[in-house]
Amino acid sequence: MSAPARPRFESPLRTRLFIDGEWCVSETRQRLPVVDPSTEETIVEVEAGGPADVDRAVQAASHAFGAWKRTTGTERATYLRAIARGVEAHGEQLAALQSRNNGKPIAESRIDVGDVVATFDYYAQLAETLDAADEAIAIPSADHRAVIRREPVGVVALIVPWNFPMVTTAWKLAPALAAGCAVVLKPSEFTPLPELELAAIVERAGLPRGVFNVVTGTGSEVGAALTAHPLVAKVSFTGSTAVGEQVMKAAAPSIKGVSLELGGKSPIVVFADADLDLAVDLVMGGAFFNAGQMCSATSRVLVERPLAEALIARLADRVARTVVGDPFASGTQMGPLTNRAQFERVQRFIASGKADGARLVVQGGVPEGPGYFVQPTMFVDVPAASAVWREEIFGPVLCLRSFDTEADAIAAANDTEFGLVATVVTRDAARGERVAGALQAGVVWINAPQLIFPQTSWGGYKKSSLGRELGPFGLASFQEVKQILSAVSAD
Ligand code: NDP
Repeated sequence: MSAPARPRFESPLRTRLFIDGEWCVSETRQRLPVVDPSTEETIVEVEAGGPADVDRAVQAASHAFGAWKRTTGTERATYLRAIARGVEAHGEQLAALQSRNNGKPIAESRIDVGDVVATFDYYAQLAETLDAADEAIAIPSADHRAVIRREPVGVVALIVPWNFPMVTTAWKLAPALAAGCAVVLKPSEFTPLPELELAAIVERAGLPRGVFNVVTGTGSEVGAALTAHPLVAKVSFTGSTAVGEQVMKAAAPSIKGVSLELGGKSPIVVFADADLDLAVDLVMGGAFFNAGQMCSATSRVLVERPLAEALIARLADRVARTVVGDPFASGTQMGPLTNRAQFERVQRFIASGKADGARLVVQGGVPEGPGYFVQPTMFVDVPAASAVWREEIFGPVLCLRSFDTEADAIAAANDTEFGLVATVVTRDAARGERVAGALQAGVVWINAPQLIFPQTSWGGYKKSSLGRELGPFGLASFQEVKQILSAVSAD
């Protein structure tokens, strides 16, 4: 592994709130440290917003919404494409900021930048379709005409987590702007730097002031104030199931719209006829990409018994050889976890797995010294009732059990309160389709890595989601549906 090249940033880092087209300080007069998880050093301090800042941002958005909602889809598409080009032009800066702030290897951050660009370009195309005439609906009355019109819901609050900072933001921001909504964004207090840089790109795209606002700060101050604000029409939230529940409760008194993308505990089902090399790659990617800090982590491996020994041996070798280290060093496959609380939480899970009788097969190495590095860990024969099998760990911990029949595999895969994604690995195409149909998950990959195209859909069953992101679903989640029924004049 070569010595890490520390990133150089093009300009001073953004640390202020972005409200009504201005970079400003918080009325709290407080700041939050932003920590580099590889070194545990403070990179910079950002403004710690409070309820008064939230109110200013929401008022600015509400004011801007009046004119923004009257722009055409084609005009909004122009802004979205300008943002996409800005992200492309500053892609290396954004990737470096994200790897520094979140800890993921720089190659993974570059993938995220590509995803952000694709998302803005896709919603630019969808925005243009909004200029079509109202959709006529066939009704059983010759005396009336019915059409459906879609309108933006209003001011929307976008609340995002720290594991895929720019991507979760783009998946909300692009469709919200395409629909004609005005936005207040709250990044995670742990990873505000990529979003603040994205805000600078949005500003350069020339969006009218007040249409897009960013308030950094904590969930309990900024997040709670946003979800309770009477002028916010909808909250689009990605984060933990526990906080998602709080968001729903806070939104209830004003009957706000709520979209939730929450946790997961997803299965990967490997049948005995699987291509072993492919199965190993898919299991490793599903469990250790982004150090396992993925809502879509397929960290519950279900393997058909005849293949179990061979799969375990191959996985153990790969886990042991995983290169954990500085996100900027070439050869690094896994960086640190993003924050101390998550680092400690995952260590507790690993201890609980051992205490609950799961068999620890292997733990990889981590660099000495500071940083929230966790050993990539693999348990087999994991008790089905144990916390490591049932709860979202959100770290580099792979758990494996064997099964005997297809029916057993489906039952075990669905035996969870979550239902975000699932992967099936088999050479039998008919079985792949059959099992995909039986799995309670919003996304099923068959013999494929976790590719997510903005044209498709994102979200899950059960406690994983409320609503869907991406594709036309993502746009629809920021639109009201208005029916206009008119009497047809006799003359
Ligand atoms: P949290 O739920 O802790 O936080 C998510 C966001 O909500 C953060 O911006 C947080 O602010 C904010 N927040 C915290 N408390 C409140 C509150 N009371 N009201 C409003 N907002 C609040 O999640 P994490 O950041 O820890 O992210 C990890 C979780 O996100 C995992 O469970 C993961 O599965 C889920 N996730 C789901 C995805 C999906 O698509 N289904 C994708 C990515 C992640 P702050 O950071 O300042 O506390």
